[in-house]
Amino acid sequence: MKPEAPRRWSGGDLVVATGNPGKAVEIADLLAPFEVDVRRLGEFTDVLPDETGTTFAANAIIKAAAAAAAAGLPALADDSGLAVAALDGAPGIHSARWAEEAGGFSEAMALLDQRLRGNPDRRAAFHCALALAWPDGVTRTVEGIVEGRLVFPPRGGFGFGYDPIFVPAGDDRTFGEMDPAEKSGRSHRADAFRKLVAACFRT
Ligand code: IMP
Repeated sequence: MKPEAPRRWSGGDLVVATGNPGKAVEIADLLAPFEVDVRRLGEFTDVLPDETGTTFAANAIIKAAAAAAAAGLPALADDSGLAVAALDGAPGIHSARWAEEAGGFSEAMALLDQRLRGNPDRRAAFHCALALAWPDGVTRTVEGIVEGRLVFPPRGGFGFGYDPIFVPAGDDRTFGEMDPAEKSGRSHRADAFRKLVAACFRT
């Protein structure tokens, strides 16, 4: 028997499984050309399960699958973070938690500076996994990545999170020093969206 082709988007409602209104708007804009009626997670549930996965993709699937089950509709979720080579990929899936536990992103960036003192290896990458889940349990995932290096002290007032210490490969400016439109075109999230569109949306 011929194996079934991987599932693709076939139009209609899509729940964006994020509690972050900024992310929901950004995702709706990106999917505007593809016959997608974006629905908010809050229309169906207020809670998403704990992110208990050990990879970005696993955590994105947990959120997308829970939202798809709650809504009875296909759902899209993302999970992202910063992986530092010299720290075996930390903070990675714990990027948001690191900042919470450190008392903020300035403190988390200072902690990274401290952990990397004396280590010339400054390679790091931002990752973004996107998972599309259907209520019958089918899921598809893609992962976007942007490679770069860390610099200290932090530079630039744009962006959020770890942007002020991350310099993408081929540039001298941190994401925090870039105009938001420029960053969003070359970010891990943009890369993941391009891959998702190619895999599931483009006809
Ligand atoms: P999420 O919302 O659970 O995916 O958590 C992502 C976390 O990773 C954020 O709280 C930031 O700490 C970090 N992060 C992800 N993407 C970026 C980015 O584009 N710039 C800076 N930090 C990011």
